[in-house]
Parts: sequence; structure tokens; C-alpha cells
Amino acid sequence: MMTSSDNSQTGCMLAEDVRRYYLDTMGIQVWQSLEQQDDGVETEVSENREVIWQQLEQAVSNCTKCDLHTSRTQTVFGVGNKNADLLIIGEAPGRDEDVQGEPFVGRAGQLLNAMLAAIGFQRDQVYIANILKCRPPDNRDPKPEEAVACSSWLQQQIELIQPCVILALGRIAAHKLLNTDQSLAALRSKQHDYAGIPLIVSYHPAYLLRKPIEKRKSWQDLKRIKNLL
Ligand code: URA
Repeated sequence: MMTSSDNSQTGCMLAEDVRRYYLDTMGIQVWQSLEQQDDGVETEVSENREVIWQQLEQAVSNCTKCDLHTSRTQTVFGVGNKNADLLIIGEAPGRDEDVQGEPFVGRAGQLLNAMLAAIGFQRDQVYIANILKCRPPDNRDPKPEEAVACSSWLQQQIELIQPCVILALGRIAAHKLLNTDQSLAALRSKQHDYAGIPLIVSYHPAYLLRKPIEKRKSWQDLKRIKNLL
């Protein structure tokens, strides 16, 4: 019998195998029958997903669960491929992101795009989100209560995307996702598991802009992600 830890070691290919294994064991031929349906059924499924995404984005844009809604210009929902294999999670929108409504669009975002290109991804092939949907004033660290208030939005995005791998950028994203306060060095040294999804921790691009010498170590993390995918 396959376990969820088998799944977390090897990413999406096995996840699909595991899904088929369980469905076969239960005598359910869901994927097979969907594939055999005419195009209408698959279109309906993807239209439903799109409606769910739109409702979620609308709910986030109206969110008042913490005080950050009073100072934001707008919420920063997330961007990219909603079926992405790779989900990238940063900390919180900065000034540029608050103005443009999109994560990682400032200098750190440009470096992130270059890092992605180095492992063969265009920005629009991955999905990018943050722990917080609203900018903390003066780019201060998120408060614990803000992260808690915001967490269900990101959880819903993860459930919808079902990525093969999550990349947590920086200490704060890693701490919130893994519910730990270990050092970044300790967290980088191993592969983690977020609800059965392999999770890799690496440096935040804003930190790499301040400490370019660490880019070499960041490259090791990126290669690890490439191997998982
Ligand atoms: N830093 C982050 O963590 N997220 C952004 O969207 C921008 C900068």
C-alpha cells in the first residue's frame, strides 16, 4: 500500500499514480470516464473551477479580517498558472505590489523571474502568491494575527492548484507554512512536506539583492526543485 510520504518524496507523477491506485482499488474509473466524455464535460469542469477562482478572488478583495485592510491600496491575490506544477510563496506585498495588485513585481520580482528562467520556467508557467494578501505598512514583518487571519485564502489557493512542489521564499514564508521557528539554514537543508506536497525553502530574492554572494546557494535550491519536477 502506498503512503502519503511516498507521494511527498517524488512529486506529481506519483501523486497521479496514487490517485489512480486508490480509484482503481475502490472500483472508481473517474479519470478514465472523464477522458472518454465529449469535450462538453471537461469544459464544464474547468468553467466551474474558474467560477470558484473568481469567487475566491472577489472574497479576498473584500477581506477585512485584519487591520491591514485599512492601509492597503488593494489586495494582492496571486498570479500565474492555476494548474501550475510549481507554487512560489513569498511573504507579503511591498509598495510596488500594493500599487500594481500583483506579487513580486518590484526588483525582487525581477530577480525571481531570472531565477525561474534559470530552471526553465517563464513567470506565467508557475503560480506566485504570498502569506499575506495585503501590504504591511512600511514593509514591516507580518504580525502573527495577520498571518493567521490570512491563512485560509492561501490554503484554498493551494487546494485548487494542487501543485507538485511548493517553494517558500524566505524565513517568514517558511515559518508560517511549516509552523516552525528554525533558522533558514536549517530549513534549507532538507525537503519538507506541506499537506503531502514537497516543500523547499530558499532565500528571499530581496535578501539575495542585498547579499548576492548567497546566489550560489540559492542555485542549489533551484536545482533541487528542478529535480523534483
Ligand atoms: N516580497 C514578497 O515577499 N512578496 C512580494 O510580492 C514582493 C516582495
